Amino acid sequence: MDDQTERINMAERPNAVLDRPYPPDSRLWALGPNRPNQKEILSQFSPAEQQTINYRRHILDSLASFVGKDFKIPVDLNSPGEGWYWDFQANRIGIDPQNLLEDPFDESRFKVAHEGSHRRISRMEVIPLEVWREPGFSFLMNAIEDPRVNNFVVEAYRTLEGPMRQTYQAGVDFEAQAKTAAKEKLGQIPRFTRAGFEYIKQWFRWSQGQGFELSEDLPEDVRQVVQATLEAAEDSWRRYPAKAGADRLESENGLTGEDLIKEHQRRSYEINRDRIWPEFKKLVDKDIEDQMMQQSMQGTQQGEYKCAEDEGGEVTFFVPPDVAFTDVGK
Ligand SMILES: [Zn+2]
Repeated sequence: MDDQTERINMAERPNAVLDRPYPPDSRLWALGPNRPNQKEILSQFSPAEQQTINYRRHILDSLASFVGKDFKIPVDLNSPGEGWYWDFQANRIGIDPQNLLEDPFDESRFKVAHEGSHRRISRMEVIPLEVWREPGFSFLMNAIEDPRVNNFVVEAYRTLEGPMRQTYQAGVDFEAQAKTAAKEKLGQIPRFTRAGFEYIKQWFRWSQGQGFELSEDLPEDVRQVVQATLEAAEDSWRRYPAKAGADRLESENGLTGEDLIKEHQRRSYEINRDRIWPEFKKLVDKDIEDQMMQQSMQGTQQGEYKCAEDEGGEVTFFVPPDVAFTDVGK
């Protein structure tokens, strides 16, 4: 987390991940280096708070398994303030105990269902290594993947629609916080960060049946890029399987639900790559020119996917806190 830039620079999308059966053997995750120390995290809270956290975590555990269709997936507490994510190599969901205590429980329910939906339909392994390694590309993927996953989860589980709305309405506040923090640190907000948040914001309008209406405070270059790519972004976040299709063991034409899940991911990725990235990359290039790219990756999570190399030289690869659920200023 602290030396993230270095990690990204030496980031390789490991073939080991691609070759490994999916998901990885669930016996291995518990031994993995990335699993947070649950006891230590809990000890930071009072006994009464611990009780509340444990009780709520237990409920979320069932929900994550149910939505993820994976009854072995662990739901672990992250360090307070660390955010929420699905670590797809370890196949583990991390949740933020601080949110669990303080936020309306409906928001936590939605967030864990969102992470479970990543488990269900996100298949980053369809993306070739050389594309993935382009600075800023994985950030763009994340900014479209979250809307795509949200579409899937609220279509499949209508009762989560209210909690989703509540979460993203509250999210306006942490976006403001994140922007302020980035501005304080860097003097200004990186263009690619603004663009990523803008896609999510426009998706939220779209999901509420409202037309696109770009934020007024967007710098002209960011506005142009988002404007030029919004239609493609919508096309991309629409590419998700219906739950019935995803659950199918075998269809008429011989495609399983898993084939369907991968096919949707592939199409969404190709739209991002062919129709959004050429424009989005202009912002990344400008940020690199201004030396903001490196600093922003160093200083914040910002939804950038992280990579790390362990002692054996094997590269591990994991997903950061969700861009939209994290106060990246912390
Ligand atoms: Zn997400």
